[in-house]
Amino acid sequence: MRKALRAIWTVVLLLGVVGWGTPAQAASWIQVTGPIAPGLREGMAGPAVRTLQGDLWHVGLNPGPADGYFGPRTRAALEAFQKREGLPVTGTLTDATFSRLVAKVLGWGTLSGLRIVLDPGHGDGTGAWGVYPGAKDEHINVYQVALSAKALLERAGAQVILTRKNGQDSFYGTLRGLDARVAMANDLGAHLFISLHQNWNPDAGLRGVATYYWKADSQGLAQAMQREVAKATGLRDIGLFTEPFYVITYTRMPAVLVELGFLSNPEEARFISRPSFYEKAAQGIYQGVLAYLRKR
Ligand SMILES: [Zn+2]
Repeated sequence: MRKALRAIWTVVLLLGVVGWGTPAQAASWIQVTGPIAPGLREGMAGPAVRTLQGDLWHVGLNPGPADGYFGPRTRAALEAFQKREGLPVTGTLTDATFSRLVAKVLGWGTLSGLRIVLDPGHGDGTGAWGVYPGAKDEHINVYQVALSAKALLERAGAQVILTRKNGQDSFYGTLRGLDARVAMANDLGAHLFISLHQNWNPDAGLRGVATYYWKADSQGLAQAMQREVAKATGLRDIGLFTEPFYVITYTRMPAVLVELGFLSNPEEARFISRPSFYEKAAQGIYQGVLAYLRKR
């Protein structure tokens, strides 16, 4: 059933892209950028609206072609959804409507109430460097992956906190470095801690994704993360490892460290420095969290 819906949704999405052009009154549409979020209403246009339309198709309603334009048909479908769910019928994507819709699309519930600390490694002048053509430094790549993963997890209702800002060391309190990252996760009472890195090895032939954990309570998360990240990115699955790395030893919640490929492999270095890779890796992290929670 779900597969069928997804197939229909895909066809509709394609039709939306190739079959229907921009409505005649295009000039009057309010263009919105960014991912789907509460606040969408009739008269708006953009990728977020297309996602909303896809989600409405996904739950068995007909918002018209998924063309990214929030017109009367999309409003009617949204109202039908609100009515069906016993929510106030407003025709706009309210907070309550948004979280209910995401719950239905996920099919099992939201991540609401889940607090995740994402730790993009380094940012303090350390880490592997992107020395090969087309490659970027580790601290840049993992930060971008963290930002994309944050957006996906937050869309599903989770609260996500990054341990550092772009190009900066951990900014929590007066501590710096790894102890600050651990203190941040512990003080916030995070439910999960996920550290993101990229590997370097003198053997330039090595490549693939690896996940590290140390505490027994972290093995399930590590398994789910390794499997899903390998699947989503297409990187070679080189498996799970146990190492007492600081951030996965002293954090009090299930904690893993994922090495997203090797910057020492010229070919892989280029691949893992691309925006398209950031999105795939983020999808893998998101799916890893979902897979872990489903199994608990
Ligand atoms: Zn690193």
